[in-house]
Amino acid sequence: MKISFSSFTLHIIEGYMSSLYLVEYDDSMLLLDSGCINDIKRIEDYCNQVFNRPPGDIKLAVVSHMHPDHAGGAATLRSKYDIPIAAHKDVDLWYSKLGGSLQHKLDCYMAMGVARSNKRKWERMLYKPIINPDFLLNDLQSLPFFDDWTVLHTPGHTLHDIILYHQQESLLYIGDLICDVKGKMLLPLPVMFPTLMENSYNKLAALNPSTILMAHGGVKQTENASSLFLSMKEQLSQPPNSLMRRVYRLSGFSPEIKRQGI
Ligand SMILES: [Zn+2]
Repeated sequence: MKISFSSFTLHIIEGYMSSLYLVEYDDSMLLLDSGCINDIKRIEDYCNQVFNRPPGDIKLAVVSHMHPDHAGGAATLRSKYDIPIAAHKDVDLWYSKLGGSLQHKLDCYMAMGVARSNKRKWERMLYKPIINPDFLLNDLQSLPFFDDWTVLHTPGHTLHDIILYHQQESLLYIGDLICDVKGKMLLPLPVMFPTLMENSYNKLAALNPSTILMAHGGVKQTENASSLFLSMKEQLSQPPNSLMRRVYRLSGFSPEIKRQGI
């Protein structure tokens, strides 16, 4: 599926667990999240069969955060096709040390559970927990090679989540900041840093984009994105259900949790 905007064409690739966005310009392509490691073949098939352009034409792969359905394919795409990776400067701290290594395995295990409950056939999930990005990103900088996109640091789900804003098209790629589950707009699992998450939603509400690209839920056109982000803030103050509590309990092992003082 694709949508034309004035400055690019947006291709939506349905991955194993999430939607991947391939932004096509006349002379290059930008990949917004690399999906699971098993999504590499989906990216290759889309490029070769639908698009008729080699995956090597992707000039940059952005990793919004380190979870398996976002970062899983990045390092392999780089080694296979020389596609550089851009991610938040602290991205590799998340799964570092012993605690990070344990968290990485738990996250892969939980992702396999989600895939199974969505009746997906078993596919490979394990990937390298450290990605060594070629470009380390900071809040408010523009993307390398694609200076029409602004990086926003939006911690809460993890400490290093970034999202991408295209001001000219009033378009926002929000990664996992909101998950559309059967038509309901829900918080991601887990929210490790609720106060930071609240600030992140405030930041997004101020932008009021007209199109939101979600990793879980596809493309959402809206006239009132601000109220959507503010309603997410409301959800933060509600008591967690048993699934939220369980995922939270299984998500506290990254050394970054201690660094933040939780
Ligand atoms: Zn995530």
